Amino acid sequence: MSDVDGFVPVLIVGAGPVGVTVATLLAQHGVDCLVLDRFADVYPRPRAVHLDDEVLRIVGRLGIAAEFTALSRPARGLQLRDPNMNVLAQFRRERPETANGYPQANMFDQPEFEALLRSNLRSCQHAVLRGEAEVTGVVRAGAERAEVTFVDRVSGRQHRVEARYVLGCDGANSTVRTAIGATMRDMRFEQRWLVVDATTDAELDQWDGVHQVCDPRRAGTFMRVGPDRYRWEFRLLPGETAEHFGTVATLLPLIRPWVDGVAPERLVLVRVAEYTFRAQLADRWRRDNVFLLGDAAHLTPPFIGQGLCAGLRDAMNLGWKLAGVLNGWLPRAVLDSYEQERKPHVRYMIRFALAMGLTMTAGGEVGNLLRRVVVPRLKLLPGIRDKVVDSTTPALRSGALVVRRGHRRGLAGRLCPNPVLAGRGRFDEVVGPRFAVVTRAPVPEARRAELAHRGAVVIAAEPGAELADWLRRGRAAAAVVRPDGTVLYAGPDVSEACGHVPVFAPCLADA
Ligand SMILES: Cc1cc2nc3c(=O)[nH]c(=O)nc-3n(C[C@H](O)[C@H](O)[C@H](O)COP(=O)(O)OP(=O)(O)OC[C@H]3O[C@@H](n4cnc5c(N)ncnc54)[C@H](O)[C@@H]3O)c2cc1C
Repeated sequence: MSDVDGFVPVLIVGAGPVGVTVATLLAQHGVDCLVLDRFADVYPRPRAVHLDDEVLRIVGRLGIAAEFTALSRPARGLQLRDPNMNVLAQFRRERPETANGYPQANMFDQPEFEALLRSNLRSCQHAVLRGEAEVTGVVRAGAERAEVTFVDRVSGRQHRVEARYVLGCDGANSTVRTAIGATMRDMRFEQRWLVVDATTDAELDQWDGVHQVCDPRRAGTFMRVGPDRYRWEFRLLPGETAEHFGTVATLLPLIRPWVDGVAPERLVLVRVAEYTFRAQLADRWRRDNVFLLGDAAHLTPPFIGQGLCAGLRDAMNLGWKLAGVLNGWLPRAVLDSYEQERKPHVRYMIRFALAMGLTMTAGGEVGNLLRRVVVPRLKLLPGIRDKVVDSTTPALRSGALVVRRGHRRGLAGRLCPNPVLAGRGRFDEVVGPRFAVVTRAPVPEARRAELAHRGAVVIAAEPGAELADWLRRGRAAAAVVRPDGTVLYAGPDVSEACGHVPVFAPCLADA
């Protein structure tokens, strides 16, 4: 495939984590794609530090779960503290791994993760990444194509490439978003925060989870990111900037509660930066063949560490659908389900982050009531306690690819668990990017052959095994699971369930 002037099935603008992830997923389906980024290398500054267990399944599907585990560490829960550092409430994550097969909260360094994503992409023969390529415009080119213009920042030459689909993964100030006439809708949140990354060879001897300091004057967050890496975030007061805190000495008044007794020379500042945290959602995520993903489509304050998680969910949601359309086994209309499924999910997660932000920062009587009366009692209420430590996110809305049998509390729209299947590896590895029918009931041989012909795999849920319990709790005998692990349909009749597997499902080699 030529990486300049010409045609490519999918052109991805932006080689941040979201762009590289969707490129890898498409390449796994044999879809040729070109990724353009204005810079040659990954953005070197630390940003995201947390991914949840659902999103680690996406990392696993990229084929780099073991490599990611090697550079990450699990966090053991959340403490809410008052301004004097007294613990208001503590939520522990006891289980080493969830039904998704990974720890609930995983701490890491974003540049290290992005370097891993890129080196993995290099092994994909269907994807080309071109750096120093500044995209300047995206226009319609006939009914079926879009034309992308970019400038080579080294030679200054302008190039034009046509693509069947363009994916705008170009971050918060997205050029693609502007090009398709989409605008960010404000969810009325804007705060300036100081973000501090530091290393030390000293043992800080802190509770090994995320500390959220609930203080209307100076809310803050502390967490251990790596063996010797720590992250603090503090709300900035009016008139303060990052320059006021550029040295260990000027930072000490803020970080003292965690580094008391540590000689200042043993603390090394990696980065001290100011960020304006915002909550925004693009009014539309698509025009014709051009889609928005990641920060180009949504922004959230990082109070629950979900910005990048949302972007990786976008990549997973759209990747297999687009591959299905381009490879001819799904109708084009399914692409409408991308925004229909993802937007409400992202809105929910942003609102959850805003609620956490309110607990940390709200002033006045409401804030005091929240912190003094409500928060300390949260841990006593099993439903709420479970919600805080449970990383399960809401089910996707009903649509063409999430079919419910009436009640919303069923399995449809939720992730299928990812247990180890006796002697065969984890569910995700066994199934790969195919549809699966998970069933407690027997499937006749002719039906199996027909499903295999459609590219779907049958997974028998043995009595007593995790998948069988999961189906039983969901009052289903069988479930159809999409290539992204989401349940398309679950019901009491296995034959009816099989009917929900698309007729031209992906035909891939047996896993
Ligand atoms: C302080 C902080 C803490 C955070 N903590 C978390 C957390 O714990 N967990 C979490 O999930 N998220 C967190 N986030 C959010 C997370 O960092 C972002 O959501 C994530 O980086 C978005 O990825 P992306 O690929 O969509 O965009 P980006 O990472 O911004 O990548 C966009 C890419 O597009 C390229 N680009 C832009 N314009 C053009 C153009 N015109 N032409 C060519 N290339 C272009 C850029 O060079 C860049 O490489 C945090 C963010 C911040 C700031």
